[in-house]
Amino acid sequence: MNDKLSIKTCPTCGSDKIQLVVKDVTRKYKGQTYTVPAMEFYECPNCGEKVYDKVAMQKIEAYSPAYRHEHALAEA
Ligand SMILES: [Zn+2]
Repeated sequence: MNDKLSIKTCPTCGSDKIQLVVKDVTRKYKGQTYTVPAMEFYECPNCGEKVYDKVAMQKIEAYSPAYRHEHALAEA
């Protein structure tokens, strides 16, 4: 089984220009911005749609303040 997402067309606009890119992604959570480095995801140059696979989502969660379970209590 291949866990990797393979996308040929954009789910939003149907463009076949969508492609796999590796970029730092800056996201916002409750007014707090955080950066997930070297994220691998599909990006559509036509409509700007971004598609994250399961591995990418886990990486976002690992960096997101929303999911910061272990480190949150350390400074209390
Ligand atoms: Zn698109």
